[in-house]
Formats: sequence, structure tokens, C-alpha cells
Amino acid sequence: MVRNLRPREQLSGDHTCDVAIVGAGFGGLWTAYYLQAADPSLRVTVVEAEVAGFGAAGRNGGFVSAGIAGSGARYARASGWESVLRAERETQHGVDEIGRVVSVEGIDCGYRKEGAMTLATTEPQLHRLRARVEAKHRFGLGPEDVRLLTKDEVAELIPGAADVLAGSFTPHCARVDPARLARGLADACERLGVKIYEQSPAERLGPKTVQCRNGRISAEVVVRATESYTIRERGERHSFLPLYSLMIATEPLPQQTWDELGWRDGLGIADIRHLYYYANRTIDGRIALGGRGAPYRLTDPISPKNERDAGVYERLCATLRDAFPAASQARITHHWGGPLAVPRDWCMRTSFDRKTGLGFVGAFGGHGVVAANISGRTMRDLILDDSTDLTSLPWVGHHTRNWEPEPIRFIASRLIARTLNACDAYEERTGKPAKRARLVKPFLPPS
Ligand SMILES: Cc1cc2nc3c(=O)[nH]c(=O)nc-3n(C[C@H](O)[C@H](O)[C@H](O)COP(=O)(O)OP(=O)(O)OC[C@H]3O[C@@H](n4cnc5c(N)ncnc54)[C@H](O)[C@@H]3O)c2cc1C
Repeated sequence: MVRNLRPREQLSGDHTCDVAIVGAGFGGLWTAYYLQAADPSLRVTVVEAEVAGFGAAGRNGGFVSAGIAGSGARYARASGWESVLRAERETQHGVDEIGRVVSVEGIDCGYRKEGAMTLATTEPQLHRLRARVEAKHRFGLGPEDVRLLTKDEVAELIPGAADVLAGSFTPHCARVDPARLARGLADACERLGVKIYEQSPAERLGPKTVQCRNGRISAEVVVRATESYTIRERGERHSFLPLYSLMIATEPLPQQTWDELGWRDGLGIADIRHLYYYANRTIDGRIALGGRGAPYRLTDPISPKNERDAGVYERLCATLRDAFPAASQARITHHWGGPLAVPRDWCMRTSFDRKTGLGFVGAFGGHGVVAANISGRTMRDLILDDSTDLTSLPWVGHHTRNWEPEPIRFIASRLIARTLNACDAYEERTGKPAKRARLVKPFLPPS
């Protein structure tokens, strides 16, 4: 939990700077951090509608995980598989790079790199897990990057996980308290000389200008890092599906429960159901567990009302009880959620148009912690006109078409969530793969 959420100064009056960044989530903050560090003479300003870390950055599951945000096949179509493999390696480096900055800047966010496991508890899940690991090996990763684990190997790593048939393990994952990382990163930006205004929503954003409620910034470069909130802008409604991911957290668990679970601090755990869960040990000794399936609302797609949902809450509580019986009696003390920016092809984008001076970082879907760090470094190089390995990554300048108009998108997203839930129930009941899942595959994140 973050102690100091006192908002910073608001923007008022007219200001001039070199680079104005809109949005103080990870995308905006990493861009500001690397740019200011690379050129201390630049005047870099960030404007944030609420407080730094207010969006998905401060609310997420804390997985600092490798793996590209988006579809490898889709990127490969434009850039080739070599380039996708290089991108994958960059995400592995990104996990360590975040750890490096956390350490250099003294950010107290519980960064701990112990890897992550994916668990399979039914035959169809086991089949999918095997296929996923084999595909990664075919793609060019080795067992040192990701490997299958037998039931006994899983039991050694997490003896308290129930009904596990097999698992997979990757070392390329760390755990953080995301809100502490976002707030600490904002402080680090300020120490370098970045100016951050909070509670200053940008009302219009265009070449060389950001118009906020009570002030205006003139800048050579304007970077949009508003992620899912972008859809609130005129003409942007269909650029992303604002999908909510919701989480629960238990009370702090006694040492005896942790001993029974045998869950080492810093190890991330997920499963491979269609509506999968992801879970971490928090730095204050709770289990924080999240998952998808929150209903998309036509009239109010981004709203605090969407941050809790009775049905998803029940499903997450049941998942916790079933997956980790030693914690089944723990009180659930927190329930929250946040919006993800899901582009139509699930692929992220970093772009910069030198002519207009407009930049964009985002479209990270549910995988933005490391992706935002890479985007920040990439945006630095693009703005400074440095041609580097980062500026030729496959998502630089990537184009995604818009989502279907409403109500098609609304009906489709409701149907998809319902279908996936039904597929999970079917597979658990019968132990057979739910063929219906194939129908919605084209709309789902790439595995
Ligand atoms: C519950 C949940 C769990 C997740 N778990 C993980 C995980 O474990 N690992 C992982 O990699 N990813 C995870 N994600 C996804 C990840 O958090 C996001 O992909 C990533 O944080 C998004 O990038 P961002 O931080 O830049 O966006 P955001 O944090 O959404 O930042 C956008 C910012 O822009 C501000 N803004 C918007 N409009 C304006 C405006 N007009 N003017 C000024 N400011 C504005 C917003 O207030 C916000 O602070 C999760 C997401 C959620 C919701």
C-alpha cells in the first residue's frame, strides 16, 4: 500500500516545455524518466488527470513479466520471426532493467525476481500448457527460458497448490507492489528534473499543444500515454476495448499458512483456464489474486462502478479457496480493478511522428508493466532521433484497426466472457476440451 497519495500541484496558466507527456502511468513515467536521464537539459513535463499511478499502473497484479504484449504471428507478418524473437529477448531484459532502476533509485516496491509458474489442473489445461511451451521452444526460447514441470516438480515449488497435474516455470518474472513502483518512479522523475502536474486532465491534445482544464502547455513534442482512458476522447471510442481486470486480496496470512503453502516470496502463480487467474504474495504477506470476466458496459465503459463485480468477486474467492486450500479461511479484505487498453489485434504500439511532434505509447492489454518500460526507452530514442535496436522493434509504428462499432462490440464482448466461463466449467466437469472456445479465439489475446 502507498502512504503518500497527496496530489501534486495542478497545472494553471500557460507553460512552455520541450516534451509534454499526458498520463502518469507506467507508459508516461518511463518515457519521462529515460528522456530526462538521457538529456538533463530537456524540459520534460507530465500532466496527469488524477495522481501518478491512478490507472492500471497502480492497481495491477505486480507481475513484472517477460513475454511480448501482442501476437507474435501478427508482428512477424510485418517484421519477421527474427525480429519477434529479438523483441521477446528485450522483454526478458526489461524485467532486469526495472530491477536495476528500482535499485539505483531506491524505490521501495518489493521488487523480487523469483520467476513465475503456470499451473494446469485438468487434462485440457495440461494439453494447452504443453502446446504453449512447445510453441515457445519452436520459436527459439530454450528450457532455461520456460520449461514444463511434472506434478512432483510443481509440488516441490508450491506444495500447497491443490489438484495440480503439471506446470511450467519461467525465471523471467519479478514481483512488485505496482502502486509503490509508480509513485516511486514519479519521485525519481522529479529528482531528475521532470515537472509533474496532477489533477490536471488534458482536455485537448494536439501538435505542440496540451490544453488542460486550467492551463495550457506549448511543447515541441507531445506524447499520449493515456492508455484505456484514450477512448473518452472524441473519435477514439473504438481504438481500444476498455476491459476490466479485477482482483481480491486476503488479510495478511500467518507464517503457518505460508509454511503450509510453501509459496516462496516473489514467485508469481497463474493458471491456464480460459478465464485464467494470476496471483502474487504481496509485500505485506497477503495473497493478491486477479482475473478477467468483468462485464463490459455499453453506457459507462470506464467508470469506478466497473471496478467491483459481485460475480467476478465470487469466482475469484472460489478460485482462491480451491487453488490454495491452506488459505481458504482467510478473510478477503480488498476487492478492486482497473481498465486495460485492448486493441483490436491485442498488439502494443510505440509511435512518433517527427513532423507533427506527436508520440504514442501504450495498447499494452494486460501485459503492460515491462512493455511500458520498453516503450519509455524506445520513445526516448525516437524523440532524440537515435536509431537503436529499440526503434526497430516490431511494435514501433504498428497499426491496428479499430474495434467494431457498438452494439456489435458490446454483444460480442459479453458473449465471449460468457462462453469462456462456460468452457472452463465444462472442462472442469468433464475433463474434456471445450471445443466452443475455438469460436471466440480470434478475439482473444494470443497465447
Ligand atoms: C487488475 C489489473 C491487473 C494487471 N496485472 C498486470 C500484471 O500483473 N503485469 C502486467 O504486466 N500488467 C498487468 N496489468 C496491465 C498493466 O497494469 C497495464 O498494461 C499498464 O499499467 C498500462 O499502462 P500505463 O501504466 O501507462 O496505463 P495507466 O496506468 O492506465 O495510465 C494512464 C494514465 O493516464 C491518465 N490519464 C488518462 N487520461 C488523461 C488525460 N486526459 N489527461 C491527463 N491524464 C490522463 C490516467 O489517469 C492514468 O494515470 C494489469 C492491469 C489491471 C487493471
